Amino acid sequence: MKIFDKFQPLAETRQRMSETGGTFFNIVMDEVLSATEAVINGRRVILAGSNNYLGLSFNQECIQAACQATREAGTGTTGSRMANGTLAGHLALEKELSDFFGRRGTIVFSTGYIANLAMLSTIVGQGEVILLDADCHASIYDGCRLGAAEVIRFRHNDPEDLEKRLKRLEKRRTNVLIVVEGLYSMMGDQAPLAEIAGLKSQYGAYLLVDEAHSLGVLGANGRGLAEASGVEESVDFVVGTFSKSLGTIGGFCTSNHPELDLLRYASRPYVFTASSAPSIIASTRTALGIIRSHPELRRRLWDGANHLYQRLKTSGFRLGPEPGPVIAARFDDVDRAFAAWNGLLEGGVYVNMVLPPATPDGGALLRCSLNAEHTRSQIDRIGDAYSALKHYA
Ligand code: PMP
Repeated sequence: MKIFDKFQPLAETRQRMSETGGTFFNIVMDEVLSATEAVINGRRVILAGSNNYLGLSFNQECIQAACQATREAGTGTTGSRMANGTLAGHLALEKELSDFFGRRGTIVFSTGYIANLAMLSTIVGQGEVILLDADCHASIYDGCRLGAAEVIRFRHNDPEDLEKRLKRLEKRRTNVLIVVEGLYSMMGDQAPLAEIAGLKSQYGAYLLVDEAHSLGVLGANGRGLAEASGVEESVDFVVGTFSKSLGTIGGFCTSNHPELDLLRYASRPYVFTASSAPSIIASTRTALGIIRSHPELRRRLWDGANHLYQRLKTSGFRLGPEPGPVIAARFDDVDRAFAAWNGLLEGGVYVNMVLPPATPDGGALLRCSLNAEHTRSQIDRIGDAYSALKHYA
């Protein structure tokens, strides 16, 4: 057996997809024109498959801040946060995030993926337990694998199943960390956080919420699902990323536990990678300021999302349970999903094609996501493109 033989099934799927004339992932954006438009395969398309929920990646103030920081501090830090990679801007951003969330301390990591690796591999260890919503993101699973805690999954968004497991763990008298997401990135559904927070307090567990997709999107001030559900006090650790509503790249954890700071010494994913470039830190700080001062961006996003959700539902697509910036259509059959995805692309609309294992139930998904910069006419064009493909629904 040769080293690549195990990838044979993958090679066959790719071959089959290319024979049907379709594109098998690896989409190249020839040009990105704005937060809502790009050129793909020579065709101008509406971007309806990103995580750029507030459209800030093209915000002029953010671009300006990034350019200025590059001129002043160079293109990269070329070092770990622990060595030469902490600039004044990194600490200023940590303070601004702490202020925004009303928490004692924040650590900024190089990506959201790394933030989860760092937290889950370090805050719990041998003899302790992580209770994980089964649909959590791969970065959370990978963080668990890097650490030594026992990992037990509970059924997605099912507080009853969570309680059953908490009860069983009671007699072990060990630390239990419950881990959920705010808004789940694939189906766009939200965690029943008030019930989960209640269970956490009742059983004396700890709670970590990954607000990657809900930061800037949910809550009166954009602090995410914990704010929207009125349970911020019960959340021990909020993890988030800069690569969605903030329009850059990076991650963070914010907490009221003063000991969070010790992770700077104990967490390998913090120590053994280079820190974010000055431009990233500067544009993220500007974007955070915009989230705080422009709540109308959030309202615009939700208006568009509610409108598109109703349109796709009327066209007969099988959608997630509630309207939101992520609107996913389910398909049992992967080939039909691919045909619909390519049809949308030909119709001038790019959405994300999602296949197992990234899908929650083994089927395929077309994941459409909106941002605050999509105009009503663009949203109607997206609706029209789906409607023309409703025979695939
Ligand atoms: N957490 C969740 C819930 C995510 O969806 C993602 C990325 N899609 C991440 C963490 C990782 O963030 P990043 O891509 O910024 O590394």
